[in-house]
Amino acid sequence: MLAVKKYKFWFCTGSQDLYGDECLREVARHSQIIVDELNNSGLLPYEVVWKPTLITNELIRKTFNEANADEECAGVITWMHTFSPAKSWILGLQEYRKPLMHLHTQFNEEIPYDTIDMDFMNENQSAHGDREYGHIVSRMRIERKVVVGHWADEVVVKKIASWMRTAVGIMESSHIRVMRVADNMRNVAVTEGDKVEAQIKFGWEVDAYPVNEIAEAVEAVSASDTNALVDEYYEKYDILLEGRDAAEFRKHVAVQAQIELGFERFLQEKNYQAIVTHFGDLGGLKQLPGLAIQRLMEKGYGFGAEGDWKVAAMVRLMKVMTAGMKDAKGTSMLEDYTYNLVPGKEGILEAHMLEICPSIASGPISIKCQLLSMGNREDPARLVFTSKEGKGIATSLIDLGNRFRLIINDVTCKKAEKPMPKLPTATAFWTPQPNLYTGAEAWILAGGAHHTAFTYDLTAEQMGDWAAAMGIEAVYIDKDTKIRDFKKDLMLGEIVYR
Ligand code: MN
Repeated sequence: MLAVKKYKFWFCTGSQDLYGDECLREVARHSQIIVDELNNSGLLPYEVVWKPTLITNELIRKTFNEANADEECAGVITWMHTFSPAKSWILGLQEYRKPLMHLHTQFNEEIPYDTIDMDFMNENQSAHGDREYGHIVSRMRIERKVVVGHWADEVVVKKIASWMRTAVGIMESSHIRVMRVADNMRNVAVTEGDKVEAQIKFGWEVDAYPVNEIAEAVEAVSASDTNALVDEYYEKYDILLEGRDAAEFRKHVAVQAQIELGFERFLQEKNYQAIVTHFGDLGGLKQLPGLAIQRLMEKGYGFGAEGDWKVAAMVRLMKVMTAGMKDAKGTSMLEDYTYNLVPGKEGILEAHMLEICPSIASGPISIKCQLLSMGNREDPARLVFTSKEGKGIATSLIDLGNRFRLIINDVTCKKAEKPMPKLPTATAFWTPQPNLYTGAEAWILAGGAHHTAFTYDLTAEQMGDWAAAMGIEAVYIDKDTKIRDFKKDLMLGEIVYR
């Protein structure tokens, strides 16, 4: 996996000096305990850093600006332990530019019925102070995540953990650089889009290179480096000759090994984290990058086929958001290919010509070498496997001409009913929520693409929050989707995001 920064999140507690020093000492002590316990929970992907209690306009403004300037800080978690007059927060919030969480909690879980007095009430009044603070954030139209509940509750800690990954996605979006070594496939509409607007909205840099520049980088990879990588492939994967000559097969595989090394060196040298190719524009490359691209995706690079730079950036984004996740099940580009319409067994066979990330694989992974039905090159070697079962999300970012829309569909991945021995590609099989019929109808009404950025490891909420932070429309297709309501969502989007 490509390295992601060791991000940290600042924990800022709000109060004021009306209640005396003793109260403020307790406020600080409580927030330190919360920070320690959050860090000790083992549930957070990133560290929380305690900051001194914010009680004045000056300190609030200074702290938010320090958070802006600190490259390791990916967001601020705010909580009003007592009442903190919210006009004090205006200037700081105005100047703050990173992800913001409002943790609406309180130190004690239970009302201390026997001992509670007015001192206790004044010291522990987040129910009161967090409403004052929430009001100003809403009035200022600032996008933030609100999490409600006791800070020691595992559900609350997991919500913080989930949002941390969203926040890192927001921070890292502007570090995504997509290399295009081919333009979008001729005449295809849905993979097109406004690259300038994408850079304004998401921070993505999307640049073109002549395909032969990267082909030269591939040519420059030595035979010994290539052979060493082929040996690694032969160690790691099952080889399915299917009647082909073993020596000739290995030569085909070696072409992909050389592409993997050449592409990776070229991407690293030029500092790109995602790439698109196109089977119709391969210049000096001997094969369509198949196995090579599959391996690069597994290492954390984004990829889009047929010049689809939006999917390439989305796959990279989702790889970054899931970086370092224990028990991650995988993230890949996929394509809606063929349906199973048998009642009770409905689903979509997901595949592509070649380029599916092995991070989603379940069971053995094989190398096959077969004719590609499109293009005019050698038969490319590719990794073939089936994918894990379980819940995931399929996303499609589309350009509607005047704006972007992110479509997010909850899907249930299953084993295909039978093996498909003649199919020379990796596959997944899923049923969209709420069912194939409503799911596909909603997807088509929303204008969703055939290419998707898919992951088992993020939720619709996380991707929707990312979209909100980017200022774009998100629509959800899930267990609650009804077409009549969904059409109203789309109509509302036309008004809000025009
Ligand atoms: Mn395609």
